[in-house]
Amino acid sequence: MFRSRNRALVEAKKTNSDYRCEVCGMMFKEVYGKSGNGYIIAHHKNPIDNIEKTATTTLDDIALVCANWHAIFHTQKSSLEFRQITQ
Ligand SMILES: [Zn+2]
Repeated sequence: MFRSRNRALVEAKKTNSDYRCEVCGMMFKEVYGKSGNGYIIAHHKNPIDNIEKTATTTLDDIALVCANWHAIFHTQKSSLEFRQITQ
């Protein structure tokens, strides 16, 4: 559900990263070899239902995380925020 502008932001974020999960440090390439090369999930730190904030998304609003943490954030999104985990 990214808008096109956010899509460009996500690509920029990935390009400048090492594709390592910002929460647990997992890198798909290390675990899955070639199949995981260049794979990481972009997670919006701010709740996605906050339209006003997502309209002005910056690189700092996006976290690159593994599939496990991305799932956790979205199953517990009402009570779990990115900053709580990474602090
Ligand atoms: Zn992770």
